[in-house]
Amino acid sequence: METTGQQFIAGKRRSGTSGEQYEVINPATGEVLATDTLAGPEDVHEAVAAARAAFAEWSRTTPAERSEAMLRWADQLHARSEELAQTESRNAGKPIRLTRGFDVPGTIDNVRFFAGAARNLEGRASAEYSADHTSTIRREPIGVIGSIAPWNYPLQMAAWKALPAMAAGNTVVLKPSELTPLTSVLFAETAREAGIPDGVLNIVTGSGPVAGQALITHPDVAMVSFTGSTAVGRQVAAQAAGSVKRVHLELGGKAPFLVFDDADLEAAARGAVAGALINSGQDCTAATRAYVQRPLYKTFVERVAALMDGVRLGPVDDPDTDMGSLISLRQRDRVAAMVEAAREGGATVVRGGRVPDGPLGRTAHYEPTLITDAAQDSAIVQQEVFGPVLVCLPFDTDDEAIHLANDTPYGLAASAWTTNVFRAGRASREIQAGCVWINDHIPIISEMPHGGYKASGFGKDMSAYSFDEYTNVKHVMTEITGTRHKSWHDVIFTSR
Ligand code: NAD
Repeated sequence: METTGQQFIAGKRRSGTSGEQYEVINPATGEVLATDTLAGPEDVHEAVAAARAAFAEWSRTTPAERSEAMLRWADQLHARSEELAQTESRNAGKPIRLTRGFDVPGTIDNVRFFAGAARNLEGRASAEYSADHTSTIRREPIGVIGSIAPWNYPLQMAAWKALPAMAAGNTVVLKPSELTPLTSVLFAETAREAGIPDGVLNIVTGSGPVAGQALITHPDVAMVSFTGSTAVGRQVAAQAAGSVKRVHLELGGKAPFLVFDDADLEAAARGAVAGALINSGQDCTAATRAYVQRPLYKTFVERVAALMDGVRLGPVDDPDTDMGSLISLRQRDRVAAMVEAAREGGATVVRGGRVPDGPLGRTAHYEPTLITDAAQDSAIVQQEVFGPVLVCLPFDTDDEAIHLANDTPYGLAASAWTTNVFRAGRASREIQAGCVWINDHIPIISEMPHGGYKASGFGKDMSAYSFDEYTNVKHVMTEITGTRHKSWHDVIFTSR
């Protein structure tokens, strides 16, 4: 069990000062991994002060210096990758195969990408857009960024929040979910080992209503970058509006998965199972609503059910385990209640829909679940479940498929499965989501943006597009003729 604190402020690891004790739990076993005191407003204040002090120097480093530091950071993370994978697996109840193969390498790749991107901040060409002036564009860091992250991919979310901000010359105070602070603290610790100055990246582990609130409303925080649920995102935006802070919101999702009648059915069925069960379905882009054209529908449901039967639940440290637990018993019970409500509303639970038997049933596990016959307007189809639950429904026409795909408040991600280039083109254009995959679902890459439409939020994580969130664009206009009475003065006053 860890005894060191879960705050990382001005380069030092310590406990919070709120007086509120808490335990970090392995949700797959119930084991207590760490005990600590949560951050209170004082800790947030101290972290913001450290970030503010560090900004003066960090914002003046050259892109090459930031890039060098981040490349060393990537090496440091790589050297500690097994420790990170084990810690992430235990803290979030994820199978070790997932953290070794996805969470940790994805994070390291993100650090390397932003080390490169730091040297390539773009703007319009300097030129005389007015004959008498030269216009240039400066891209400037904003200041102290208050970042708030969720528990589903603790390490990757810390990276997505911190890296573009830091690469652009900002400093960061990151609040991870209090359920999953362990790898965020390691992430900051490795930054220090790589020579990134104290105060550039600070971690405050506290609750949303206390530490989160203190961060959002802090007068020295210039921008709030939030990843989490749409419900909390709304509150964050409302509170940040009070001090006119810039806000970046990455919120919930309810990704549709369209299977047209010309699709490769086996590829689509495998894609649906992987896309729905990744991270036990606790993925904002997870495949949650499979709409299948009528001729393929029955076979698709049978094939998905058969594939789900082969998914192995088990101890997260066993490399043969496919699916781990949910994040908490609370989340498991929430998922179970949503499935139960669907069943009572007339839906058919084809597979799963229950807590597993035996020891796994005592912790936060839930079986892979396939649901059919749900009404389009029911909660299981419209609302985020954030569990290993796939709803499968039939459609007849292409128009209907596009309509159904867009028929929820969310718009984060979607996929279309077809071998017809025109159908693929129409789906890419007409589905309202920040990402549309064709013949796949889930892959993400550092070079491309991730972000939502509609109630899934606005702004982009990853890729060079994320610099638009974390920089101010300044226009500098220089008069180049030295003329005292400028020609445009004539429209104001004409005296010579
Ligand atoms: P959440 O909204 O409950 O919490 C997210 C973070 O906000 C946590 O750190 C929490 O402590 C904090 N928070 C809670 N209440 C707060 C308040 N009143 N003020 C300030 N901060 C507060 O979300 P969660 O349950 O941790 O994560 C799951 C959600 O995150 C899902 O909705 C999922 O779709 C979303 N998510 C979105 C993306 C994306 O990129 N769009 C990525 C991952 C997760």
